[in-house]
Amino acid sequence: MPPSASLVVAVDGPSGSGKSSVSRRVAQRFGLAYLDTGAMYRALTWWCLERGVDLHDQAAVTATLDALPLAMGTDPSAPHVTVAGHDVGAAIRETRVSEQVSAVATNLDVRARMRDLQRALIAADARGTVAEGRDITTVVAPDADVRVLLTASEQARLERRARELHGHAEAHAVEATRDQVVRRDRDDSTVSQFVEAADGVVTIDSSSLTLEQVVDAVSALITERTGRRPQAVAP
Ligand code: C5P
Repeated sequence: MPPSASLVVAVDGPSGSGKSSVSRRVAQRFGLAYLDTGAMYRALTWWCLERGVDLHDQAAVTATLDALPLAMGTDPSAPHVTVAGHDVGAAIRETRVSEQVSAVATNLDVRARMRDLQRALIAADARGTVAEGRDITTVVAPDADVRVLLTASEQARLERRARELHGHAEAHAVEATRDQVVRRDRDDSTVSQFVEAADGVVTIDSSSLTLEQVVDAVSALITERTGRRPQAVAP
């Protein structure tokens, strides 16, 4: 592939696999856009909660998505999510959203629309995109140049999330994150396949790797598959 052609990298994985941090850094290294598709499901969930839309009323949630004033900022150094012009980056990570987002993500009409929105966002960026989520390698961008499934043991994923949410990974913090990691993944996996790699998708197990080592592994895969080399070393 010539360096000017747009490059699409698809990264899927369960909660706590490190896919957001890895995807952002890979995008920075290769000068690509970064699309956090989970943030789109979170933004819809947040907007429904704000407006009192029953998350189990599938038609109402789908109609809310059709009118959602969502903008995704895809600069990997400063990704942002705005709804009606307001930065909702922090609000969509609140526990009430994490606890309820699966109800929205298991709505198949919502998924079909999200797929189209995400494909349009990926196609719109001439630089190319690293897109991460649960169904990018299989549904949104099955023709991506590079497709990666990032996994990690349940314990490693629980500990990572506990550090993010509570600042440490002591036993009680790990237990407090269990719903957000294990139950959410179980619900999400009823509609997306992100536990086993699909054909042609490369699995990287990050359980005993540092963030930098995983970024190096994905970067090496991109170079091997496409001939592209990093433009800059991510900070
Ligand atoms: O990655 P993150 O934890 O922010 O994703 C939030 C939720 O969005 C997931 O738990 C899942 O329900 C949904 N999601 C999805 N498909 C994607 C990305 C996220 O269903 N491609």
